[in-house]
Amino acid sequence: MNEANEAPGDAAARLAAVTEVIVRTAKLAGRAPSAIELIAVSKTMPPDAIRPLIDAGQPSFGENRVQEAAAKWPALRTPATRLHLVGQLQSNKAREAVELFDAIHSVDRASLVEALAKAQDATGRRRELFVQVNIGAEAQKGGCAIGELPALLAQARDAGLAIDGLMCVPPADTEAAPFFALAARLARDNGLAKLSMGMSADYETAIMLGATHIRVGTALFGAR
Ligand SMILES: *Cc1c(COP(=O)(O)O)cnc(C)c1O
Repeated sequence: MNEANEAPGDAAARLAAVTEVIVRTAKLAGRAPSAIELIAVSKTMPPDAIRPLIDAGQPSFGENRVQEAAAKWPALRTPATRLHLVGQLQSNKAREAVELFDAIHSVDRASLVEALAKAQDATGRRRELFVQVNIGAEAQKGGCAIGELPALLAQARDAGLAIDGLMCVPPADTEAAPFFALAARLARDNGLAKLSMGMSADYETAIMLGATHIRVGTALFGAR
């Protein structure tokens, strides 16, 4: 996909196209389209590239760095905006993340569970939280190991931290479906209702397999 040279107005057209695919795929899967939240992943994109999507009515956006989001979003966001952190989070930035984001998709270790529990208590805010699972057991990827998931969830419960769902990023250059299916089973087995999975290349497959949150960058903004 090479869309780097398109005019800014094309963002709204791309949003309409992605939305149409979501609606069609959800219907095919026997699901309500409204059960799938489209997160427009705007990491590295300047405000001028983001504003057309806000103007077109897109509420949810995703960023992968706390510092970048803190620089861009206070001036951009509207009362309807929902901001999602989809990148790794250092424990010492947990408080800033809780203040800035409505949802955090990268809870993946005990120290971060502790820091988020403290940050939510201190701020009085309750955020939507996903445990990221290293679904392909890749050394270079973030996420908690599948075998450690029950213990991490138990620790979160003990800390009073409500976990809403699982998030995963399947290995690149392989068929994503088996990994999405595995994530869906892990969520079900652990009583978690939400599933953050699917990016530009595979969000239709993710919707078929139960994604409640899809994280789409390139298909909306063009190449980074
Ligand atoms: C960048 C990113 C996305 C979006 O990827 P695209 O392929 O551009 O749609 C989704 N999820 C995470 C965790 C990301 O870092």
